[in-house]
Amino acid sequence: MQLSTATWQEVEAYLKHARGLIIPIGSHEQHGPNGHLGTDAICPEVIAAEAGLEDGILIAPTFNVGQAQHHMGFPGTITLRPSTMLAALQDWISSFTRHGFTRLYFLNGHGGNVATIQAAFSEAYAPWSLKGEAAPFACTLQNWWELRGVADLCKRLFPVGDGSHATASEVSVTYYKYPDFQKRVDMSPKIAPTGPIRDAADYRRRFPDGRIGSDPSQASVEAGAELVAAAKAALIADARRFFGEND
Ligand SMILES: [Zn+2]
Repeated sequence: MQLSTATWQEVEAYLKHARGLIIPIGSHEQHGPNGHLGTDAICPEVIAAEAGLEDGILIAPTFNVGQAQHHMGFPGTITLRPSTMLAALQDWISSFTRHGFTRLYFLNGHGGNVATIQAAFSEAYAPWSLKGEAAPFACTLQNWWELRGVADLCKRLFPVGDGSHATASEVSVTYYKYPDFQKRVDMSPKIAPTGPIRDAADYRRRFPDGRIGSDPSQASVEAGAELVAAAKAALIADARRFFGEND
C-alpha cells in the first residue's frame, strides 16, 4: 500500500496491526549521458513499490532530493544543503512517529545521502537520550544496491564497467520502470574515469560527462527487471526482520 494513495482511515486501520513504514529516499542529480536525473529516487521508489504490492507493507512518498552539491555543475540537478536535509528529515520522522509508526526503514538510492541520513537519525534520538528516556521508535538505513544478493547480481550482469556513478545497474532499473525513456548514446571513453569527489567545478573537470567508472550504455530493461525482482525479495525479508525486532 502506498501512503500517497491511501486514505487516512486506511492508515489508521494499518496502524492497528502494524507499525512499520518504508521510506524511499534519493536524489535529483545528473546521471551521465543516458541516465535520468531522477535515477537515485526512482530506483528505491520502484523497488519499494513492488515490495508494497507483494507484501502489503506501507510505503511512504519518496524523499526525492538529497545531497548533490558535487553534481551542481550539470543542469537539472537539485541539491539540499546538509542542514536543510537534516531539518526536513526531522519533520518527516516526527510526522510519522506522531501517528504511531515506530519502525522507519529508509531505502536509499544515493551514496552521498548516507552521512546526512545517519546524522538525522542521531538528531531524532538525541532528545530522548538527553532526557534519559527510551525513544519510542527506531530508524534504519539500507542502500538498495546493498540488499542481500543485489551486489552479486550487479557483478554477474555487468562484470565490466558497472562503475560507481551512473552505473549500468541503476540505469537499468530506471529503464525497467520507464522503457519509453531509454536513451542510446555512444560514450567516450567507453568506461568513465574514477577519482575523488569534491566540489562541483572539480567534479565536472574530472568527470566531464558525469559518469564515474561506468559504462551505462550496457543498461537494459531485462537487467532492470532482474535487479528489481532480487531487490524486492531481499527488501521484504529485511524490512520484516526490522519491523519484528521489538514486537
Ligand atoms: Zn545514482
